[in-house]
Amino acid sequence: MPELPEVQTIVDDLQKELPGRRFLGVEVRWSRSIAAPGPHQFERLLIGRSVESLGRRGKYILLRLSGGHTLIVHLRMTGALLLGPCAEDSFARVIFTLDDGSYLTFRDIRKFGRLWLVSDESAVLGTLGQEPLSADLSAADFARMLRERRGALKPLLLDQRFLAGIGNIYVDESLFEAGLHPMRLATSLNADEAERLYHAVRAVLQRAIQNRGTSFRDYVDGFGRAGGNVPALRAYGRAGQPCLRCGTRIERTVVAQRGTFYCPRCQRPGA
Ligand SMILES: [Zn+2]
Repeated sequence: MPELPEVQTIVDDLQKELPGRRFLGVEVRWSRSIAAPGPHQFERLLIGRSVESLGRRGKYILLRLSGGHTLIVHLRMTGALLLGPCAEDSFARVIFTLDDGSYLTFRDIRKFGRLWLVSDESAVLGTLGQEPLSADLSAADFARMLRERRGALKPLLLDQRFLAGIGNIYVDESLFEAGLHPMRLATSLNADEAERLYHAVRAVLQRAIQNRGTSFRDYVDGFGRAGGNVPALRAYGRAGQPCLRCGTRIERTVVAQRGTFYCPRCQRPGA
């Protein structure tokens, strides 16, 4: 599933091409891809509007349009938002025709992705927590947030109401980087550990953005290209391989119903 770095990469790609483009038409091939409003209202409200800017909030792509509306896209498992000349694709669920003759295609093999066209972004984004890369989020803020939350680190970091944009891959990478066990209680971290986790989350996400995201299977950027971050992964997907820090074999377990990779030596349950 695309997480913050993949979504940011797509947004950065589309930001180069989309601002100023106007929607001439939209073909909805799978109506359930449109979460709100209904497909006919969606088309009626969209056509004629132009893209003013792109943005991201958590794992959501935001296309801010003329007239104060925002087209919001969540890719979920296999969604992609592709800009290009050709729209012929059996997995295309929604195809937008742009005024320069190009197409913006929402492609989604498993059909879990969703689009919204809203005048009030908070109707969709209102429950999201802090942006982990925000300049407004300090290490002290983050430590305070951890102290106030019950539960273990991994499910907490996956909770979009706590931090917005992190999913399974970058949680495991961040906890490895910080040397913290996924089941450690958030309230059990001392000040040094909380600060380590803060810097680890940001470093892992920034590195992945520099590498244009992690592509295992489906993720592609705004032009259909795979990301380059897989070689940078140090825990996720490395079960049985030696820890790059201590040589112990990376283990795979299940935490919060998610496959979880960690080093049993570098990330001890109580340390
Ligand atoms: Zn290790």
